[in-house]
Amino acid sequence: MKTISVVVPCYNEEESIELYYEAMNKVKTENNKFNLEYWFVDDGSHDRTYQVLRDLQKKHSDEVHYISFSRNFGKESALYAGLNEVTGEYTAVMDVDLQDPPEMLVKMFDMLESDEDDYDCIGTARMDREGENPIISFFSNSFYGVINKMSQTKIIPGARDYRLMTRQMVNAILSMTEYNRFSKGIFSWVGFKTKYLPYKNRERVAGTTSWNFWKLLKYAITGIVDFTERPLMFATWMGSAFSIASVIAIIAIIIRKIINPTSSVNGWSSMVTLILLIGGIQLLSIGILGEYIGKIFLEVKKRPIYIIKEKK
Ligand code: UDP
Ligand code: MG
Repeated sequence: MKTISVVVPCYNEEESIELYYEAMNKVKTENNKFNLEYWFVDDGSHDRTYQVLRDLQKKHSDEVHYISFSRNFGKESALYAGLNEVTGEYTAVMDVDLQDPPEMLVKMFDMLESDEDDYDCIGTARMDREGENPIISFFSNSFYGVINKMSQTKIIPGARDYRLMTRQMVNAILSMTEYNRFSKGIFSWVGFKTKYLPYKNRERVAGTTSWNFWKLLKYAITGIVDFTERPLMFATWMGSAFSIASVIAIIAIIIRKIINPTSSVNGWSSMVTLILLIGGIQLLSIGILGEYIGKIFLEVKKRPIYIIKEKK
């Protein structure tokens, strides 16, 4: 029987972990198609996540493993750490809050096993954004629009991290050792034949989401900066447009002076508006440069993506 390794990042999830394990175990025993190898990652939680994982591992030491970080490194680092440890023929990435339905794993497994389509990865994408804050939905949709327009790396709107993939694809992801990790982009960048299954959004079983608007915005900027250089051209394009406009304006002023030499000084408001506009564009351009330089700074330091305190 083949083994599916599951990588499960956990941040303050003391209430969800056991429910998740039970749900997964049910799927495994009811179908009896695959073995499971769990790699839970305690991402520096402040609650009893570590103790819950330790007890779970003691109880089911044949299949449960965990990694405990020295502090919170974020979900992206947790995923990378888990992927570094997996040994199964296939690997799944799942949230512990049961928003990623365990039953779907069976279908994903069957699809990877069938020789008909030769898929390397079965992913999931949300069909709707029901129950989500409309402001967040608006920005999410805009984000997908912007990144897919600017970047060569295409991201399916609503794609979740939940997916089942082959060993080859895991190796490809592991070969991307960048410090700023944006998994949605990384999964797409490595290629491989991927099929997205639609699914309906669900509520968390317990606990609260660790995302808020500002975290999501920061994540979106990471995604854009990591997967396209296009914003860097903003200054070039804006600079060119304003240079052309200024040449036209100078010619217009000269012609007006020739036609009507006595024209008085006016246009104070348009002058102020222009100064503000150009100043704003300059600052924005410097800001965009700063985003990229900041990421370069983080990359060249070559700090580890995570630090393990304990592994079992
Ligand atoms: N998570 C993590 N580190 C973090 C934040 C989240 O490992 O710093 C985990 C979390 O425990 C969960 C998954 O990542 O298993 C998704 O997080 P969450 O449910 O908060 O995100 P949402 O489902 O709301 O997008
Ligand atoms: Mg969740």
